[in-house]
Amino acid sequence: MPDAPTIFERIIAREIPADIVFEDDAVIAFRDIAPKAPVHLLVVPKTAAYPDVAALAAADPALLARVVAIAQQLAAEHSDGDYRLVFNSGANAGQTVFHVHAHVLAGGLTEGSLG
Ligand code: IMP
Repeated sequence: MPDAPTIFERIIAREIPADIVFEDDAVIAFRDIAPKAPVHLLVVPKTAAYPDVAALAAADPALLARVVAIAQQLAAEHSDGDYRLVFNSGANAGQTVFHVHAHVLAGGLTEGSLG
C-alpha cells in the first residue's frame, strides 16, 4: 500500500490552499506557513519520488539544479537576491515533510533563521 500523500502533494493537487509564487511542469514554490524569515519560501519538485535531497541528488541532479536556480530567481524577485538555502534531511535534522523541498530564507536574516 502506498504511503499517504504528504501535505505538499495535497498542495500540488490543489486539495489544500497555499500562497503559490512559482509553478512550472516540474516544480512548485509557495510561502512557508510558519515563516522563519521575512521571506520564507519552499521550492518543491512536484514528483513525490524523492523524500529528501540525497535521494533527489542521486536520482535526478538536473532537477536539483533546477530547484536551486528557481530559489535564486525567487530570492531576487522577493528580496535583494541574497538568500540562505536549507534542506533539512532526516527527522533528527528537523525534517517534518518527507517530500524533498528547499527552504529559501531571505530579507533580513538572523542567526536563528535556519528554517
Ligand atoms: P521541514 O521541517 O524541512 O520538513 O519543513 C517543512 C515546512 O513546511 C515547515 O517549515 C512548515 O512550516 C511548512 N509547512 C507545513 N505545512 C505547510 C502548509 O500547508 N503550507 C505551507 N507550508 C507548510
